[in-house]
Amino acid sequence: MASDLNILNASQVARILDDGGPRHGDLQGRLDLVPGGGIAIRDGKIAAVAATAAILREFPDPVPTLDATGMSVLPGLVECHSHPIFAGNRHWEYVRRLQGATSRQIRAEGGGIWSTILATRQADDLALVRQAARGYEAILAGGVTTLEVKSGYGLTTAQELRLLRLLRDSAAATGMDLVYTFLGAHIAPQDGPGPDAYARLVREEMLPAVIAQGIAAFHDLSCEEGDFPHPLAMQLLEDSRSRGMPTRVHADASSPSLGWRTAAAGGALAADHLTYTPDDEIRSVGATETIAVLLPMAEQFYLDERKANARLFIENGVPLAIGTDYCSSFQATSLTLSISQACSWFRLTPAEAIVAATLNSAYVLKKNRDRGSLDLGKRGDLTILACAHPNELGTRVGAPLVRYVISQGRIIHDGAPGPVPLP
Ligand SMILES: [Zn+2]
Repeated sequence: MASDLNILNASQVARILDDGGPRHGDLQGRLDLVPGGGIAIRDGKIAAVAATAAILREFPDPVPTLDATGMSVLPGLVECHSHPIFAGNRHWEYVRRLQGATSRQIRAEGGGIWSTILATRQADDLALVRQAARGYEAILAGGVTTLEVKSGYGLTTAQELRLLRLLRDSAAATGMDLVYTFLGAHIAPQDGPGPDAYARLVREEMLPAVIAQGIAAFHDLSCEEGDFPHPLAMQLLEDSRSRGMPTRVHADASSPSLGWRTAAAGGALAADHLTYTPDDEIRSVGATETIAVLLPMAEQFYLDERKANARLFIENGVPLAIGTDYCSSFQATSLTLSISQACSWFRLTPAEAIVAATLNSAYVLKKNRDRGSLDLGKRGDLTILACAHPNELGTRVGAPLVRYVISQGRIIHDGAPGPVPLP
């Protein structure tokens, strides 16, 4: 539902102007700040961003007004990597990991992604949608206006279609705008015919059904030794391209698997994780249109031996995005916390991390035409922080900084107790 709204007196408005592509290199950290700024939203779209006095002069019509004194306004945050529909609870695995258990040992003890798949297949529809909705509440409170949601815990044609359908149903439970991704080649199923035959099933049966039903915007897959190594991942990417379905790749999450090179060569919109991508591979692939989606919370949770080399990606002209990787093994819901963690973990500046979670993540989801920045005519999607400068996302760690989340001019989350200050 689109609304009219004036926002006045913000300490800083970060416009993050859209120059026609995701930001990379020196531009990764450019926020295009308007101090003392105001925003006019009309019919749900950005009508003006300017000094508050100019907004009052040019948009004096009586519309709801929000006083953002002492606050910073960002484009609505875009979460481009989440797995919110699953059953079961794997908290014990984290304990085992901290005690030194390897992923292989945890799988032998009955854990890992496969345990989620067994639980999810057995769970009833309503329980799955309720579980997703609980996640959405926390993700929204972390400042997100657009959320990408993946299937991937079904791994049969019927179950993957079911999860995509339930994700569609779950949209009614949140004010966030959802973007749907089919993740059939998440892992090779342990009760299946092996990675080769399973990848063929994805290509020949699942993907055509997903496309025919029109229930997903993207095809995501893992490029990882042991599940879908380079040749299988490449076949999946090429097949998807021939069907006109945009792709993205879980790449090098657990080991160097040529994931980054595969994603770039296969024309994927994005490659996610990239924790174990070797420096040589980043240098030799060089600048590419594929966006590197980094997941700092995942690297911390999985106690990885190395980090994605964020600075080297930037130095090679690769645009960076950031996500939480909310999933069945750990439930990191706050994208604002991920921005803050990306600063200390990857040594990104807060501005670089904010661009990663707004404009660049909108490009990951092909939603750049109408969101990710405060350009005129884009959606009036805003994340308003209770801090005078956006840099404070990096320094006020753990503080409840998200004050308002606004979608098309309508407040969909109020972070403070008490009434929303609207007339
Ligand atoms: Zn993932």
